[in-house]
Amino acid sequence: MSLYLKQIEQLVALQRVDSEIIAIKKGMEAAPKEVDALREEFAKLQAAKAQIEEKMQYLLEQAKRVDVEITDDSLKIKKSKNKLMMASNTKEYHAMMREMDNMEKLNRMREEERATLEEELTRQRTAEAAINEELQKFEALLKEKADSLQARTEDAQIRLGQLDNERRAAGGNVPPPVLSRYEFIRSRLAAPVIVPVTAGICSGCHISIPPQSFIELQKGTQILSCPNCQRLIYWCEHFQTEEDAAEDTGRDV
Ligand SMILES: [Zn+2]
Repeated sequence: MSLYLKQIEQLVALQRVDSEIIAIKKGMEAAPKEVDALREEFAKLQAAKAQIEEKMQYLLEQAKRVDVEITDDSLKIKKSKNKLMMASNTKEYHAMMREMDNMEKLNRMREEERATLEEELTRQRTAEAAINEELQKFEALLKEKADSLQARTEDAQIRLGQLDNERRAAGGNVPPPVLSRYEFIRSRLAAPVIVPVTAGICSGCHISIPPQSFIELQKGTQILSCPNCQRLIYWCEHFQTEEDAAEDTGRDV
């Protein structure tokens, strides 16, 4: 293998390490957001549950009040019934009857109110049960995600450490001027830094290489940059990554 091809190979290896570092860092940024989103949903459910509980508290108080009123009035009606016997004349008797009727009417209304309150309570209890179930599911999911996030973060830290070593090893084999060109491009452009030119087109910016540069590239004597995007380029016929080779095999089948 020529020195030129060896350099290309090492730069591609360096690029592969850098791509993995970028992917891991991106994954590490995204994962906590996922857990945060779940926590937010969980908090919303808890707020909804608190609201239901507040509503139920109010309904129970109302039901208690109505119950007391019904009991009190039932007692009053019972007393009035006893007093009826003691009515001294028809006029007084009718007046007492009317009063009793009114009290009974009022109590029937209270019974209706009580039934309505009970219906509403049943509705709220059903809603609360549903929310409790949802909360339980979320709690389990959150725990699972938080645990896996921690495990993934630990794995990622270990892998990043390994990659750091690989990077130093790969970089160590590239001549310093080429390496500094690589680092210069890496600091200014989105990955990748080194790309193949296929059918005269730079796969970094997808623009044709001028014919003169393409001829120069095909000679394979020095590391060139794409005149358009400045990325380091190599001719796809000179060098194939394992991924490209696998893709070619796939196409042939
Ligand atoms: Zn380009």
